[in-house]
Amino acid sequence: MSTAKKGPFFLTNTLTRRKEEFVPLRPPHVGLYVCGPTVYSDVHLGNVRSFLTFDVLYRWLTFVGYKVRYVRNITDVGHLTGDVDEGEDKIARRARLEQLEPMEIVQKYTNGFHDVMRLFNILPPSIEPTATGHLIEQIAMVQRILASGFGYEANGSVYFDVPGFATKHPYGELSGRKIDELLANTRDTEGMEEKRSPLDFAIWKKADPSHLMKWPSPWGEGFPGWHLECSAMSTKYLGGTFDIHGGGMDLKFPHHECEVAQSVAADGHAPVRYWMHGNMLTVNGRKMAKSEGNGFTPEELLTGDHKLLEKGYSAMTVRFFMLQCHYASTLDFSNAAMQASEKGLERLEKAMALLPGLKPGDADGADIEALEHRCHAAMNDDLNTPVLIAELFEAVRLINSVNDSKLKLTAGALERLRSLMQAMVRDVLGFRAEAGAGGDDRMLDALVQEFIHLRAEAKARKDFATGDAIRDRLGAIGIALKDSKEGTTWERT
Ligand SMILES: [Zn+2]
Repeated sequence: MSTAKKGPFFLTNTLTRRKEEFVPLRPPHVGLYVCGPTVYSDVHLGNVRSFLTFDVLYRWLTFVGYKVRYVRNITDVGHLTGDVDEGEDKIARRARLEQLEPMEIVQKYTNGFHDVMRLFNILPPSIEPTATGHLIEQIAMVQRILASGFGYEANGSVYFDVPGFATKHPYGELSGRKIDELLANTRDTEGMEEKRSPLDFAIWKKADPSHLMKWPSPWGEGFPGWHLECSAMSTKYLGGTFDIHGGGMDLKFPHHECEVAQSVAADGHAPVRYWMHGNMLTVNGRKMAKSEGNGFTPEELLTGDHKLLEKGYSAMTVRFFMLQCHYASTLDFSNAAMQASEKGLERLEKAMALLPGLKPGDADGADIEALEHRCHAAMNDDLNTPVLIAELFEAVRLINSVNDSKLKLTAGALERLRSLMQAMVRDVLGFRAEAGAGGDDRMLDALVQEFIHLRAEAKARKDFATGDAIRDRLGAIGIALKDSKEGTTWERT
């Protein structure tokens, strides 16, 4: 397998808090599970960062030769407001507010999520299971947990007995929490008439008659607890123990800690060998959140139509901005950083455009093999994308020097440089060539600009039918026009 020549891959296992060499359970296969979105609202940029982190992981594992089964779920039931066992189901609440069927909400926001993933060139997973599609597996898991003695039924709901579990198995290893401290700090008495301990969590909830989303179960009509779906679906598709589980840092507790406990109780062993958590995106030092008014949507980012944005930025600029920071560090959004990223990406894309036309020389003025090793080493060091990008700018410098006849590279070295850049820029970092960013698309861009111009003329003479037809026909061949304050831009869809 090709992994050998690219060296061992180290990643920070958040379970052990150490950088460890990644060795899959059943090479060349790798099982990867990532917690997907709860599809009750538009995704914001903070969510995009998390999915981007695992996209780069997936791309790197694939690039080095592993056969990755990547499972990323869609949460379409069971995630309650407040992220605890009380409150309304987020999707049912949205369905009530928008006066739609819950499954219409699910479809609407799933479609929107997929559009955003495509926009940022985030690859689709191998399997995208939904919680409502796996009720049988979840009910079976509740039954196994009950059989283990670490679950109990109360009034049609089933709870996980955390203190009971903790007397027999380690609990809190992943998040570093201790039962005594958790108990001392809890003031939550909600639902306490059913729960034996405030640390217990619902694995099955009884639904009242007015509840929109409910299914028959051995305990009456109800719905699964939020943490349960990931355990049931990862087990189904990746096996009882699998390689990597990823998610945002905010999911570590309680969500992932509960997943571990559920699997240990139900199946007798820890589910995950390497846990990986991506850090947050902040805006002016504060977590990006809708409630803070700083959670702009990808759409707003592209058009620049938000009070915090000085202008619109392309999806690939955002991707570049995010990958210039290591996934485990917090990343603060600012217009200055975005504008620097825009310039950086433009330099990179210009060099990419020069690559095919570079003329070979009769000597090698640079060691491309060493550069390639440094690129691989950066990714093998816990997906160090900022270091990789710095190495790629070293490549940009070489490309520009060859283009200016200040440096010579033989045909072999040039070929190696071309395939390195193609691999790192397009396949691993996932930067898609955008209009105006480089020369690959110059002719296409010139053509689309002509259509944009014709459309503007049509609109100016109030011929909106022609204007719309131009937009729709371009859309049909995969070219999306975006109107903003600064005029019309285009993007491949
Ligand atoms: Zn999950």
